[in-house]
Amino acid sequence: MSPHIEKLLVIQDRDRRLIQLEQQLRRIPSERLEIEERAKAAAGRLEELKLRLKQTESDRKQLEVEATAKRAQADKYRSQQLQTKKNEEYQALAREIEGCEKAVREIEDRELDLMEQAEKLAAEIKAEQQLLHEVNAQADRQRAAIAKREADTKAEIEKLKAERAELSRSVDESFLGRYERIMRHRRDAAIVPVQHGNCGGCHLQLPPQTVHQAKGSEELVTCDECGRILYWVAEYEHAPQAAR
Ligand SMILES: [Zn+2]
Repeated sequence: MSPHIEKLLVIQDRDRRLIQLEQQLRRIPSERLEIEERAKAAAGRLEELKLRLKQTESDRKQLEVEATAKRAQADKYRSQQLQTKKNEEYQALAREIEGCEKAVREIEDRELDLMEQAEKLAAEIKAEQQLLHEVNAQADRQRAAIAKREADTKAEIEKLKAERAELSRSVDESFLGRYERIMRHRRDAAIVPVQHGNCGGCHLQLPPQTVHQAKGSEELVTCDECGRILYWVAEYEHAPQAAR
């Protein structure tokens, strides 16, 4: 293998790792957003339950006011009943009292329903508070883990970039330029092995002349199909086809 290729392969190895790491970095903002949204959703559910409980309590207070008014009205009719001498009027007031008492019973039934609802909501709130606590604790751990991963990734990127700069100083400039153009274009690999007579990048069969050149030439030989730089390694040619 030509020393140019050997050096470029090392650079390619660093570049591929760099591409990988930069992809990982780009995913971090959406990972962060996901964590914040989960925490926000849990807090929102708790708020919603608290609002419902508050509404239930204010509904119950309203009913209590209505019941008190009905009871007062019934009392008023009762005192009117005591004062009346007319049987007809007495009976009419009795019906009014009965109406008030019926209304009070209905209100009390609704109050009981609301109290049951409030109890259920209070239990749900307690469970949701516990859940929110867990979600927040988990979010804190995840935030810390992401921050650490981000810092580690950035540090590794810096290290690789420095290494790559050092490596590239020892490579022929025109070869490096060609390599970089192909890498920018292909993203996955600019230098690929000849694999059983095929290009290791696009996998199409190479003309025997190209394979021959890749095997012996000091020049950079490229695949006509995809433009990637080719190199020849003996193990591919001697390995059985099935083991590829
Ligand atoms: Zn190719």
